[in-house]
Amino acid sequence: EELYGVKRWGAGYFSIGENGNIQLAPNHRYPDVTIDMKDVVDEILAEGIQLPAVIRFHDILRSQVEILNETFQQAIDNADYNGKYIGVFPIKVNQMREVVEEIIDAGEPYNYGLEAGSKPELMAVMAYNENPNALTILNGYKDEDYLTLALLGRHLQRKMIIVIEKYSELEMLIPLARKLNVEPMIGLRSKMMVKSAGKWASSSGDRAKFGLSITEILNIIERLKSEDMLHCAKLLHFHIGSQLSDIRKIKEAVTEGARLYAKLVQMGVPLEYLDIGGGLGIDYDGTSSTTDSSRNYSTEEYVADVVYGVKQICDLEEVPHPNLVSESGRAITAHHSCVVTNIVGEISPTGTQFDISAEDGEHILVANMRELVNAEEIHPQERYNDAASFKASAYEAFKLGILSLPEMAKLDTMYWQILADIHQSLDRDSFVFQELAELEDMLASQYLANMSIFQSAADTWAIGQVLPIVPISRLNEKPQVRCSMVDITCDSDGKLSKYIEGTEISENIPMHTLKKGDNYVVGMFLTGAYQDVMGDMHNLFGRLTEVHVYAHDDEPGDFYIEEVVPGTSAEKVLTTMQYNTDYMAKVVKKSIDRQVRKGNIAPREGVRWTDFYEQCLAGSTYLKV
Ligand code: PLP
Repeated sequence: EELYGVKRWGAGYFSIGENGNIQLAPNHRYPDVTIDMKDVVDEILAEGIQLPAVIRFHDILRSQVEILNETFQQAIDNADYNGKYIGVFPIKVNQMREVVEEIIDAGEPYNYGLEAGSKPELMAVMAYNENPNALTILNGYKDEDYLTLALLGRHLQRKMIIVIEKYSELEMLIPLARKLNVEPMIGLRSKMMVKSAGKWASSSGDRAKFGLSITEILNIIERLKSEDMLHCAKLLHFHIGSQLSDIRKIKEAVTEGARLYAKLVQMGVPLEYLDIGGGLGIDYDGTSSTTDSSRNYSTEEYVADVVYGVKQICDLEEVPHPNLVSESGRAITAHHSCVVTNIVGEISPTGTQFDISAEDGEHILVANMRELVNAEEIHPQERYNDAASFKASAYEAFKLGILSLPEMAKLDTMYWQILADIHQSLDRDSFVFQELAELEDMLASQYLANMSIFQSAADTWAIGQVLPIVPISRLNEKPQVRCSMVDITCDSDGKLSKYIEGTEISENIPMHTLKKGDNYVVGMFLTGAYQDVMGDMHNLFGRLTEVHVYAHDDEPGDFYIEEVVPGTSAEKVLTTMQYNTDYMAKVVKKSIDRQVRKGNIAPREGVRWTDFYEQCLAGSTYLKV
């Protein structure tokens, strides 16, 4: 089994090189041309960029756009399918301008379009999807301004499809379209009956937040007919949830959606497009299974099930094959970015020591505990039981004022020494008692990572999503310790400890021992979908510095940093919380001046303090190491 299962989740993009560094093959057309991740990080550091940083590999974005479009094209050719594939990228998954620009550019040969789910997203897609042959799909709840913007898009000759989520949206749209004299393109979002699985299962079923019931769809058709607007109904849409882990649910949804499409066409609704939404999953944990963080199918299988599934039903129902639209976001963006950061410290239960030498008149509990130190002759279970019981008694004694602070420190030091000793002496391959097996977890260190989980990996905290965490070098060395990774927020939830071994989830991540003076850099991978943009400002750690990396076309294996987007400064995060940082700097300066006048601070020193405060305002919110 390869360390950290890199190949399993790496989707052909990530592997471990012979030098023990993570290697990256960013272009799917050249799987043997690899870039050394450590070289990338070294160059970032050499340019004076501080970690943590988000590294974006734009070539991976392009690759994913090509793979999705070409896989659909291939299946359409193989199946003699009469419609086209005309996909859109839902920008909610990653709205960063550079990401959207790259996707639009890579998708141009395929007329790949964009999807928006809110007014600001609509404004972004209007400006960035100028291709008159590509679709712009407009989902989400809408007000008059939203609809008016969409109608403006029609004036600009764009294929803007307003997907009706609620009947009332149609009632708003009809008079607006008349007033502005625009022919809208209308989509109907169906509330699906199929019950999907996974974290987003509530996106389908009768109680789903989005979509129209069959009754509502029929009422809308009647309404459109009465307005002589039935010809505007172009698209049928469904989306049964993100990260669909089980292919059977996808097949079921496709069957239901295609049947609904066929029946509507038979009723005279001139639908041209069937939009199957998002949901194409990612194998975050490398298990290729139906865990919430994986998927039991390949992209080829997904695409084939859609194309052949729709074709079969349309042929049976004798209706034309619709053009197929999908709104895959996660699958397009997840692989392209990762967070790299350094481990800035270790919190270890055995890390701090107190002098444990015997003293006259010390409490009997201290003496008892000392007898267990180096007592290898005692059976490990018995030794562990005794140590645990002495520790519990010591706590009671301390609360009653019987044990002194130095005595408590001695007891604690000895207790952890004994546990570490028992742990080391255990024969790992033979049966061990339950509690002794737990020793591993009790003794696990916590590695302090210079980052905020809430900013950079929101879903690990919010929904228990697993993300691969791997040191970017030393992978030719077996990891010596198991630990959890804690972040620098003042929140105990700011912790990552899930690690997949084969198919089992373990609660600690294998890591290497930290060497003095070494910069141990770890990467958190597959963060390009949602994580990149859903982060919050907990503790006022803002956005990370971003480094955009491209592969050199002319020199295989080489790369260049195309752009560096600085992370949010302290000043900027404070400003978003309504602070006026000029005022703050003035107030602090005044206080310093007052102390200078009183003679408590030398004038020159006062100037240095003032400058320092201002520098910190302009500086990074993360730890400077
Ligand atoms: N389309 C709609 C309507 C969605 O709600 C979502 C996200 O849940 C997507 C597309 C993107 O889904 P995914 O990221 O799973 O491809």
